Amino acid sequence: MKQRRCPDCGVTMEPVPVRDGESMGLSIATGEREGLLGKLGFKNRAKLQGVCCPECQLVRLYAEEE
Ligand SMILES: [Zn+2]
Repeated sequence: MKQRRCPDCGVTMEPVPVRDGESMGLSIATGEREGLLGKLGFKNRAKLQGVCCPECQLVRLYAEEE
């Protein structure tokens, strides 16, 4: 995955696992939103990758193709 930088601190954000307690990770269903996420190249589902800033603990989620 790409290196992500914290928008506030400018340091590299660390990948963190995203869990909902039951499945192996969170994902978003993109099939119904073709107009928006279809442009990003996602077909029906996109996994969410979490990243956390080691300085300020900001957490961001990025949609990534499975
Ligand atoms: Zn930060």
